[in-house]
Amino acid sequence: MPATATASSGMIDRFSLPDATGHFGQYGGVYVPETLMSALQELERAYAQAKSDPAFRTELKHHLAQFAGRPTPLYFAERLTRHCGGAKIYLKREDLLHTGAHKINNALGQALLARRMGKKRIIAETGAGQHGVATAAVCARFDLECVVYMGAVDMERQALNVFRMRLMGAEVRGVTAGQQTLKEAINEAMRDWVTNVRSTHYILGTVYGAHPYPMMVRDFHRVIGQEAKEQILASEGRLPDEMAACVGGGSNAMGLFFEFLEEPAVRLVGVEAGGRGIRRGEHAARFEGGRLGVLQGCKTFILQDLDGQIELTHSVSAGLDYAAVGPEHAFYRDRGRIAFSYATDAEVMEAFQLCSRTEGIIPALESTHALAYVVKRARELGPDKILVASLSGRGDKDVQQVARMLGTPA
Ligand SMILES: *Cc1c(COP(=O)(O)O)cnc(C)c1O
Repeated sequence: MPATATASSGMIDRFSLPDATGHFGQYGGVYVPETLMSALQELERAYAQAKSDPAFRTELKHHLAQFAGRPTPLYFAERLTRHCGGAKIYLKREDLLHTGAHKINNALGQALLARRMGKKRIIAETGAGQHGVATAAVCARFDLECVVYMGAVDMERQALNVFRMRLMGAEVRGVTAGQQTLKEAINEAMRDWVTNVRSTHYILGTVYGAHPYPMMVRDFHRVIGQEAKEQILASEGRLPDEMAACVGGGSNAMGLFFEFLEEPAVRLVGVEAGGRGIRRGEHAARFEGGRLGVLQGCKTFILQDLDGQIELTHSVSAGLDYAAVGPEHAFYRDRGRIAFSYATDAEVMEAFQLCSRTEGIIPALESTHALAYVVKRARELGPDKILVASLSGRGDKDVQQVARMLGTPA
């Protein structure tokens, strides 16, 4: 884990972004085939209408409470704090949500939107399977046809999630192109959408892709930070000194951070996947060696070679194993408002066991990247400081993999 960078200057009206063309500064935009332009415009219009409709907001709030289980606690990790011997550590417990991660916030929002738009068929991509499971669940709940694209390699690694999706009535289509993982699954989902655009809504799973997805997905996750702000004020009477969240595409981080972007006293830190270390092909830390480029609808920081070929990535956590990062993160990093760090697989394995042992909470390997960061920071800071980490998901899906890595078969 690198020395911590400073993030201070550069306050900006957080509601002013993205601009009318879907850009966050130079990042974002709409880089898609002509055939998808009208679908994206239709989606943008429908979302703008829904957003300003009190009936939509009430309905979403109802399902977030009754189906997903909101609000989630902001939990004081007392034993982990004592173990570190420094700053107080709080965890935002998105792991307690239905289907086991924050992804359900966005899946619910988009499913309700699809219904408003009269679309009865849903497609989605999934890497580790968490977004696929959340999408399958909301489709079962709202009686929508559901097709999930998943790389064949991921299907094998995450067989349990494939079964969960099928149990809830989704059709899981394996993708055998290229690396047979998330990137290829997204390509296939976009191909399906082009073909079936009239009947179909594409529920994209993170703050990525062409406008309006990065904005819309962010908005559906804003509830995380809104709750956290109220909760920390209630328990501590002040805002935290620092907040950390893991960043794959960046949706749990953007959801937690958005409410605090204009609170200069709160330091915001995104934690990327350092994998086996920052060497080509061994990690997925886009801000460590990535460059500006365009991938899957969006201009942003991408891990690519000199010819613009997308580089291989690696992380112990499938959910962070992607070559590009959400455009809003790239923007706020340039402005110095969100700082970035990374955690290596080895640091994550240690924090995974530490959290399980001290708190009785088994975290998702993705979320554990944020935990590894706050454990390190808590040790550096005094007991008068307050840290908040996004516990974006639970680790049940990861225990077999961890058992294998520790050499103790489950
Ligand atoms: C999918 C996933 C992530 C990564 O996605 P973001 O869009 O970066 O939040 C992180 N944590 C968990 C538990 C996930 O399932």
